Amino acid sequence: MNANLKVRGLVAGYHGFQVLQGIDLDALPGITVVLGPNGAGKTTLLKSLAGLLARQGEVKLDGARLPAEDATACVRHGLALVAEGRQLFPQMTVTENLELGGWLVPARVRAQRLARAFEDFPRLKERASQLAGTMSGGEQQMVAVARAMMSGPRLLMLDEPSLGLAPRMVDELLAIVRRIAAQGVTVLMVEQNVRKALQAADRGYVLERGRVVASGDAETLLHSDVIRHAYLGKT
Ligand code: ATP
Repeated sequence: MNANLKVRGLVAGYHGFQVLQGIDLDALPGITVVLGPNGAGKTTLLKSLAGLLARQGEVKLDGARLPAEDATACVRHGLALVAEGRQLFPQMTVTENLELGGWLVPARVRAQRLARAFEDFPRLKERASQLAGTMSGGEQQMVAVARAMMSGPRLLMLDEPSLGLAPRMVDELLAIVRRIAAQGVTVLMVEQNVRKALQAADRGYVLERGRVVASGDAETLLHSDVIRHAYLGKT
């Protein structure tokens, strides 16, 4: 547990269109948030780290090189991604969705993790046999996070988990993410909800046009000019 992600000179994009222009980033134990305007490359960053895109540069988790373009190997190395839009199986129950998150682990471990997920997410236990597609947006996001935890990750990556959620659900979700981090899972999270994300996080990076333009501890970033002017609308 307490994993360290080290990224150096990360370059990635789509079909010859380079989005990330050489990213240096560290995710240390706790929560690291990645902020930035639409199109800055935040989703591309998470996808390339998760082995879903071709990339150049160095990506190491606890000193071990993570393979590019091999998402299954990345999961085996301890990395899990909750993609934007949750990607649940709407016609399957909550339990079935969660079990799919543990497809790489033996059945006995999967059963233990499922029991643990229902302890950590009591709201999901109540709805274990409900079809995932019939749940509220916030509940679906919880299923997505709980499903990612079923693989037993050391690094959990979340792409805009608060998107489309009511303010109270956002708070509940961020509290869950904090709890996960407190259990020793390193969290790397992309967020548009700048203020709440920085309040929940330990450290942050600001991405613009595929480059890191600011970084630091979350409290300092929250009061920095770059964040206040560009994202919080303050002069
Ligand atoms: P948002 O906040 O809008 O989700 P983002 O910071 O996550 O933005 P990305 O989704 O990483 O940004 O997109 C970065 C750039 O890559 C954009 O110019 C986008 O149009 C382009 N892009 C994203 N996905 C693809 C794709 N599958 N094929 C080609 N270009 C893509």
